[in-house]
Amino acid sequence: MTEEFPIEPPADSLLAESLIVPQETAASFRPAPQPDTRLYIPHHENWQARIKADTEKIYCYAKLPGEDFFHLILNGEIYLVGETEKYCLRCALRVGIATQDRLFWQNRVLKRSATSL
Ligand SMILES: [Zn+2]
Repeated sequence: MTEEFPIEPPADSLLAESLIVPQETAASFRPAPQPDTRLYIPHHENWQARIKADTEKIYCYAKLPGEDFFHLILNGEIYLVGETEKYCLRCALRVGIATQDRLFWQNRVLKRSATSL
């Protein structure tokens, strides 16, 4: 006699499948790559990166366009310190102290050689 297969699998095999499926999708699923959040300071000689970790109130030296106040740098926030000024990373990017262009050094060389021609 042949064994009859149940039309529906037993409840515990359903459970096993539901446990396996996420593992399979996790193995085949490639998450979107993390955005490249690295920042570079092309003229880094006079700048230092710090993490605010004290109770002193520090304000960014730049205002965002449309804002009429200097914003507070929060504890745990990474900011840049120059000779006399401090910038949050957002403003440092905006005013051109920092860049996300990893090839900034190459572009600088290219610009120089282009102007010398
Ligand atoms: Zn700022």
